[in-house]
Amino acid sequence: MSITVDTYPTLSDAALAMREGSQFLGGGTMVVRGLNFGAQDYDHVVRSTDAALKEVRPAGSGLQIGAGVTMTQVMQASGAEFLAPVARAIGGPAVRNMATVGGNLFVRSPYGDFGVALLALDASVQMSDGQSLPIETFYAQRASLRGLVAAVTVPRPGHGAFRFRKVTRTRPKGASVLSIAAHLPGGSRISGARIAFGAMGATPLRAKSAEAALEGASLDQGGIQAALDSCLNGLDPQDDALASAWYRREIAAVHLRRLLLDEER
Ligand SMILES: Cc1cc2nc3c(=O)[nH]c(=O)nc-3n(C[C@H](O)[C@H](O)[C@H](O)COP(=O)(O)OP(=O)(O)OC[C@H]3O[C@@H](n4cnc5c(N)ncnc54)[C@H](O)[C@@H]3O)c2cc1C
Repeated sequence: MSITVDTYPTLSDAALAMREGSQFLGGGTMVVRGLNFGAQDYDHVVRSTDAALKEVRPAGSGLQIGAGVTMTQVMQASGAEFLAPVARAIGGPAVRNMATVGGNLFVRSPYGDFGVALLALDASVQMSDGQSLPIETFYAQRASLRGLVAAVTVPRPGHGAFRFRKVTRTRPKGASVLSIAAHLPGGSRISGARIAFGAMGATPLRAKSAEAALEGASLDQGGIQAALDSCLNGLDPQDDALASAWYRREIAAVHLRRLLLDEER
């Protein structure tokens, strides 16, 4: 099968060029791999040289990150320090030099670690047609959304209020057995926590029962127990080559406890 590659100067033009059989090219870590392995479901690759895709800029009290910004660029961006540990946990250096924020929103579980962090941080997703979607809505509608992702806007968490943990078979890198991100505002009594799990469903998912159980709680064993007991509600892990759904269910609360108590192991 021959492949056509078209390059457009603006993301809007690229979005207009998308048709059945098209794939948008971000950094290409998955799209080009698919081509190399003989993917049959697309014959048209669309890319854009739109400079805005590569921008990281202040937005209110947070940041707007272009969809074409790579994980390496996130690690280096001024003001994005809270996201650097998440970007650093994705692949090895070669992957991080190519892997984009936009692409991470579309990869299949168990990939998608950056999106897990964005979900916990209550980010919004800006589409090429100008609409802005809460990231939870984006994930719920992802399969039916038309258009391309232009950028994400991420509120900046308070000092020490954001945590991320990734569990892999191989250290220091590897695809996630699961990942967890938590935004824990409120200091000694948590108020308005957001907890997101990766590789525990087809998309990153919030653990809403655990969030509710943390309301007014302190981050000690007694304070977090109800959140641990309820953290699987609404999650739907799958079997894959890395872990069974059963195993993922078994270890989710263990790693949530370590994240909430800020334990290394
Ligand atoms: C060896 C290896 C290790 C990896 N490790 C990890 C890991 O640890 N954690 C992790 O989360 N991922 C991992 N990945 C998966 C992947 O590299 C990352 O998720 C990356 O962020 C995907 O971005 P990309 O730009 O390369 O996507 P691409 O391959 O360019 O695209 C992926 C999908 O996203 C779509 N897309 C891309 N940009 C846009 C846009 N702006 N708008 C609409 N659709 C878009 C594409 O059309 C395609 O369907 C790994 C991949 C490899 C090959």
